[in-house]
Formats: sequence, C-alpha cells, structure tokens
Amino acid sequence: MNETCDRCGPAVLAAYRLERRGQLYLCRDCASRHWPALAGEGWSIWVACERALAPQAALPSTAERTPALAAMSYA
Ligand SMILES: [Zn+2]
Repeated sequence: MNETCDRCGPAVLAAYRLERRGQLYLCRDCASRHWPALAGEGWSIWVACERALAPQAALPSTAERTPALAAMSYA
C-alpha cells in the first residue's frame, strides 16, 4: 500500500488510516497533531504503513486505546 497523506498531498506517505463514515489517510505528523480531535470525534485510527512511522514517534495519551499505538510500541 502506498497511500498518501490527505492533508499534505501526494508527496507524503500516509502512516495512519482512519475510519469513521469514510476513510482518511494521514502522515505521522498530521496524525500526531490532530489525534486528540480525531479520536474525540470517534475516528478509529490504524497503522497504514509501518515503514512511515519513526521509532521515536510519540502520540498523545488519547491514543492509548487504539490499535495503532499498540503496534507502535513495537516499532
Ligand atoms: Zn500530513
């Protein structure tokens, strides 16, 4: 899969896939920035491309319930 960030455009590889009524793809930076708001809106956040995740990526504590964070802890 080579999905790209819906906010940054086609030059940036998406690291996360979000699902609610539709689908949204975000890079690591966008996901980190918007994570609390998106989680608060009920989006489910999944890892879309593990290679797009940096090992030092730290996300807000609201991410703790999500499968994405569980995957990240092994990165
Ligand atoms: Zn982005």
